[in-house]
Amino acid sequence: MKVRTRFAPSPTGNVHIGNMRAAIYNWLFARHMGGEFVLRVEDTDIERSTPEAIQALLDAMDWLGLDVDGEHLYQTTRQKAHLEAAEMLLEKGLAYKEDKGGTGQGECVIFRMPGTDTTFVDGIKGEMTKKAENMQDFVIVRSNGTPVFHLANVLDDIEQGITHVIRGDDHVENTFRHIALYKALGAEIPNFAHLPMIVNKQGKPYSKRDGDAFVGDFRDKGFLGDALFNYLALLGWSPGDDREVMTREEMVEAFTLERCQSSAAQVDMKKLTWMNGEYMMKLPVEEFNAMAFQALEGAGIEADPEYALQVFGLIRERVKTVADIVPMVGYFFSEEFEYDEKAVRKKLQKDGVVDTLNRLKEIFQSLEVFDEASTDKALHDFVEESGLGFGAVMAPARIAVSGIQSGPELFPMLEVLGRERVIERIDRTIVKFL
Ligand code: GLU
Repeated sequence: MKVRTRFAPSPTGNVHIGNMRAAIYNWLFARHMGGEFVLRVEDTDIERSTPEAIQALLDAMDWLGLDVDGEHLYQTTRQKAHLEAAEMLLEKGLAYKEDKGGTGQGECVIFRMPGTDTTFVDGIKGEMTKKAENMQDFVIVRSNGTPVFHLANVLDDIEQGITHVIRGDDHVENTFRHIALYKALGAEIPNFAHLPMIVNKQGKPYSKRDGDAFVGDFRDKGFLGDALFNYLALLGWSPGDDREVMTREEMVEAFTLERCQSSAAQVDMKKLTWMNGEYMMKLPVEEFNAMAFQALEGAGIEADPEYALQVFGLIRERVKTVADIVPMVGYFFSEEFEYDEKAVRKKLQKDGVVDTLNRLKEIFQSLEVFDEASTDKALHDFVEESGLGFGAVMAPARIAVSGIQSGPELFPMLEVLGRERVIERIDRTIVKFL
């Protein structure tokens, strides 16, 4: 049996990370099994399923690298088949018509539950049973003639030859009904696996109110698709060892439903940010630079490309998300950078600092070449002969040229800034604060 899984989202314009995680697991499982992964757009909610919403969905999948086999199936194109199946169920006496609630709005088609207990073995949760008395007949075609989710979903899974339905455990209750439908339709019942929800700290479904909940939010905040993929893959699944940053091939190789957790998972932004940083570090230099240029452009920063490349080299390994880039490099490109007040008060406005800065200026002016090695040596020599502590020299130097206390290593940074800028900035700092 060739495995076929699917992602069956209802496009709304925003893709919740919980849904995307289900897509990722379906994709990983299909790839692991050498099977196929298909897309079905459950677009029957005409108002929400706009072309923009569908495009947002496709973009999100593309960004995460979820490649799909074959053509996409749009559920709305299948309405005729859905209604024909309902007709067939009526003919066989497996469904009946009723004016629900006697509203006079016309008759619905209602599926007759078989009146037996239902059991299935969930690929993640194990054996699941529901008693016959807890399962009621349910509507499959509304009085306005449109098919209901249950009918459409099952018929389309049959149509697409889906062997494994992997979805959120908010669908467990539906699955008991769906199994009855499969039987009534004379179709083979697929394997089901229900993923536990992503929850907030209170154990409630994780929503926008708890933080970034949509794939697009993460993209906008400067996360990388590959990193989010890796993070979501591990949110409820483990490779069985302590690996965390994994290539796609490694995840495909290791993925099994048995190693999916049956308990709810919580979003940990710290961990995602860390993981994104690992991916940023591994980006090919050209790709990183292209992103950084784009970020500068987006922020309206005009930069000499050669100088910008040197700046990018300084911060490359410190960047956790693409959104870090602009705040990290601002002072390289503008003379109007802000000074951290606390740093100024604590490290600059102290006895002797004005002399230190004046001396540094002289030293920098006198250097034959102004680069990482020469500034490094000159500052160390100065520390030694002046008897000042290392920090008492480095901290004012750093704040004078960048306004803040943290950042790339000082000497490469001085080299990139260049002698002229460095001296100007020291001068300006003295005038401004000392
Ligand atoms: N459109 C449904 C949803 O997004 C599909 C559920 C399923 O995977 O069967 O919840």
